[in-house]
Amino acid sequence: MGKNKQEQNTRTVHPPVVSVLGHVDHGKTTLLDAIRKTNKADREAGGITQSIGASSIKITHEGVEREITFIDTPGHEAFSKMRSYGVNASDITLLVIASDDGIKPQTKESIDLILKSGLDFIVVFTKSDAPGANLEKVKGEVTKEGILLEGLGGNVPFISVSAKTNTNIKELLDLILIVYDIKEIKKEENAPFLGVVIESQLDKRRGPVSSVIVKKGTLKRATKLFLKDKEVGSVRALFDTNLKTVAEAFPGDAVEILGINEVLPAGNVLYDLPEKIIQEEKKSTALVDLSHHDLLARIHMQSVDKLPLILKTRTSGEYEAVIGSLPNDVEIIFEGRGDINASDIMMAKDFNAIVVGFNVNIEKQAESIAIAQSIFYRTYTIIYKMLEEIEDAAQMLLEKAMRKIAGKGKIIASFEGTKGTIIGLKIEDGRVQVGDYIQKEEVEENIGKVISIKQNKEDVKQVGKDKECGIMADVKIDFTIGDMLIFLSSKK
Ligand code: GDP
Repeated sequence: MGKNKQEQNTRTVHPPVVSVLGHVDHGKTTLLDAIRKTNKADREAGGITQSIGASSIKITHEGVEREITFIDTPGHEAFSKMRSYGVNASDITLLVIASDDGIKPQTKESIDLILKSGLDFIVVFTKSDAPGANLEKVKGEVTKEGILLEGLGGNVPFISVSAKTNTNIKELLDLILIVYDIKEIKKEENAPFLGVVIESQLDKRRGPVSSVIVKKGTLKRATKLFLKDKEVGSVRALFDTNLKTVAEAFPGDAVEILGINEVLPAGNVLYDLPEKIIQEEKKSTALVDLSHHDLLARIHMQSVDKLPLILKTRTSGEYEAVIGSLPNDVEIIFEGRGDINASDIMMAKDFNAIVVGFNVNIEKQAESIAIAQSIFYRTYTIIYKMLEEIEDAAQMLLEKAMRKIAGKGKIIASFEGTKGTIIGLKIEDGRVQVGDYIQKEEVEENIGKVISIKQNKEDVKQVGKDKECGIMADVKIDFTIGDMLIFLSSKK
């Protein structure tokens, strides 16, 4: 499976990791059981009895084979722990509410946790078949808690299911993938390894075993593991959710690790380098990493023509100085004194804003959230540098607004060229041209520029409708055969 997965890896999207929260007896365990029963792989294997604390589900979604990783243990104790470490194991949380019981104390706690951690979530109304089920009433209760559901003035997705009659279970899995794909949650397999422990135990025969969700990087045999600055062992063996040995694990995978020499509590974050080194590297590369590229990535807001900005300064005098020099196409969503904190970052997420600080720092927890959620932030001590970069970002936004869709092409193949991956396309509409910006269909974010085009092995500048060609882009694109790419002209 490891090898297979590696081959697939440049093509398929990494699996979303999903956790389940909600009040006791609201059907979390039954729901997870029903979900596991939909798993094709499991049915073939006759079902598995042992668990590593997570399950991997395979489903066909919009004609494509996809995977979802579910964390098996519902409940928020592990969540609270994870929050204190600043890294959450899951990408999406299912907030389970029984349709015949409504909001209960643990539902409220779950909502609080979800909102504070800034998690992406789906409200799942369970037990739709129960005699006392009253969906409309429960939806009303959810609104009162400040959660605005889709169609009720907000954009929180929801679904009504029954694990007993299997109603809407497949639809729930599809919804998870839709939400995950829309959010474009970043998963880097080439980054340094970062994993979150979801379960650990002392096995009489094998010693300490830990189940870990891979958040970033690739985990392999012999990888050294660190908890902060302490080495806690190295990978001796890896097992997937079916307890099969695998050679490697990628972001979104749950694996059981042998080779750690202590029983680590859930929520612990493991690295493949001491944390001190990671922090040092982060500091020295921060200026490069979080520069224009990330800014560009942030600036994909639907139809804004102003750059949304959250501004933190040390003193009001500094605030006045900055505000007086900002370009017109910047909109201050929020401003305040002091270090950038978690609520600044969460607000930035909601407004798709960038966060800048002048003469202030970023709090540690805020930084973890920003990194986990790819929220752009930057701190400055030199005012002209800050203004220069904000102006550049605003300019980019303006240019983006002037880009026009020039063509569409369906991905039909991919090849490894000498300089990188070449994507084989059939142009379905318009044309593709060297220099075009590339977007995935239905995703606003630009994912790069076309740097060269080959048609029948010849370099060409442009290819028109119904023709086939290969393009190379200046960034790696995560795609699946059958995906549609959109080309935007960079001219006015
Ligand atoms: P948990 O504590 O949230 O994990 O809840 P459980 O999954 O243990 O379910 C609690 C009770 O609700 C059990 O008696 C289940 O049989 C029942 N239950 C769970 N899902 C459904 C459902 O879809 N319909 C009905 N009618 N009952 C359900």
